[in-house]
Amino acid sequence: MAIKSGNETLVAERKEPNSSTLYERISQVPDVRGRFGLYGGKYVPETLMFALDQLEKVYQEAKNDDIFQQELSRYLREYVGRPSGLYFAERLTKEAGGAKIYLKREDLNHTGAHKINNAIGQALLARRMKKKRLIAETGAGQHGVATATAAALFGFECRVYMGAEDVRRQELNVFKMRAMGTEVFPVHSGSSTLRDATNEAMREWMSSVENTHYIIGSVVGPHPFPMIVRDFQSIIGKETRQQCLDQFNRLPDVVLACVGGGSNAAGMFYPFIEDKEVELIGVEAGGRNSNAGEHASTIAFGSPGVLHGSLSYVLQDEDGQTANVHSISAGLDYPGVGPEHSFWHDQKRVEYKTVNDQQALEGFRICSRLEGILPALETAHAIYETMNLAAKRGKSEIIVLCFSGRGDKDCAEVARLEKQ
Ligand SMILES: *Cc1c(COP(=O)(O)O)cnc(C)c1O
Repeated sequence: MAIKSGNETLVAERKEPNSSTLYERISQVPDVRGRFGLYGGKYVPETLMFALDQLEKVYQEAKNDDIFQQELSRYLREYVGRPSGLYFAERLTKEAGGAKIYLKREDLNHTGAHKINNAIGQALLARRMKKKRLIAETGAGQHGVATATAAALFGFECRVYMGAEDVRRQELNVFKMRAMGTEVFPVHSGSSTLRDATNEAMREWMSSVENTHYIIGSVVGPHPFPMIVRDFQSIIGKETRQQCLDQFNRLPDVVLACVGGGSNAAGMFYPFIEDKEVELIGVEAGGRNSNAGEHASTIAFGSPGVLHGSLSYVLQDEDGQTANVHSISAGLDYPGVGPEHSFWHDQKRVEYKTVNDQQALEGFRICSRLEGILPALETAHAIYETMNLAAKRGKSEIIVLCFSGRGDKDCAEVARLEKQ
C-alpha cells in the first residue's frame, strides 16, 4: 500500500485487498497484532505501548474469568436494565407496506443509549488494573455521560475532554456530567469538536497512564480498543439473535444500524457475522451533500489512513490532513470509522449506505409520530433507510433496526431547525 505521510494521518491509495483468503472465518479478527485484515494496529507513541499491552492482557484474563463476567452481567441487568426489548414497530411496518420492522431498544438503557454497555465494561477493567482515574473524549456528550455515570457508580475520579464548541451546544449533557462529579475539560484547539477532544485525551493519557484508564467510546483507536468495545457492545447482537430465535424461530433477514465510529453497529453485527443469510447494513451520515467537509460518510468517501492510533478508512485531503466533517447528529460527526468496519466493507460482508440530514429529520418525525418513540438523530438515519428498505421487501421478511438511543438530547436542535 502506497502510504504518504501527513501530520495527523497517512494517505494510501484505495484498492481492493485480497485478504479474504487469509481468514477461514470472518469473525476471527483481530489477529495477534490487532489487525482486521489490513486495518487496525497500534500507531501510537512508545509511551502508550505499555498501557495498551497491559490493557490487552487484563482484558483477556477478564474475558475468561467467570466472576468478572458475572459481575458485568449483574450490572447490565440490574443497573442498565438489560436485556433491552425487541419490539415490533407495527405502525412503521404498516406505513412502509412491506417487511416487518423490529426495533432493538437500546434507547431504554440507563442514560438513554448503547454507550453505557461499553463504559461499564471498561470501568470494571480499570478497577481490575487498579487505576484510580478515568478519562474520556466526547462529542455530543453521550459517551461522556456514560463514562461519568460509570465513574460515579464505581468511585473513580473522572475527566471528560470535550470540544469547546460542543460544550456550548450540549449544555444539558455538560450539566449531567458535572452533577455526577466529573470534570468537563473544554478543548479549544482545531475545530473545537470531537476529533480535537480525542487528540487532547490521547495526549493527556501519555502523561497519566500510570493511574489513569482512557475509556474510548467507539470501536476506534489503537488495538485492543476496537476489539474490546466491539465485545462489550456485542451484548446487543447476542440478545437480538436469541430474541429472534425465541420469537420467530429463525434469524432476521436484514439487520441495520447507524455508523459513526461504529460501536452500536459492530455490537449488533458481530454476533451475526457468520450467519451468511443475514444481510447487514450500516448507515453513514450523508450530511448536507457529498462535497468534502459537508458530510461524515467515511466508508463511502474516505481512503485508508491513520487516525487516532489505527489504520482505517479516513476522510482526508490529498496531503493526508483529516477533513472537516458535518452531520446533523453530533454522534455521527467523526472523520474516521472503526477498522473492523473497513474490513467488513472490503470483505463485502456489510453494505454501507448514506442517509442525509433532511432524510434523518424525516426518520425522526415518522418514528415520533407513528410509534411515540423519539429517536436520537443518529438512530434516525437508520430509521429512514429501514423504511426505504422495508417498502421494497416482502411481508414475510424481518428487518431489525438497532435503535441506538433516545432523542431527548436532540429535541432543542430539531425545534431550532424546524423554525428555520
Ligand atoms: C454515539 C452514538 C452513536 C454513534 O456512535 P457509534 O460508535 O457509531 O455507535 C449512535 N447513536 C447514538 C444514540 C449515540 O449516542
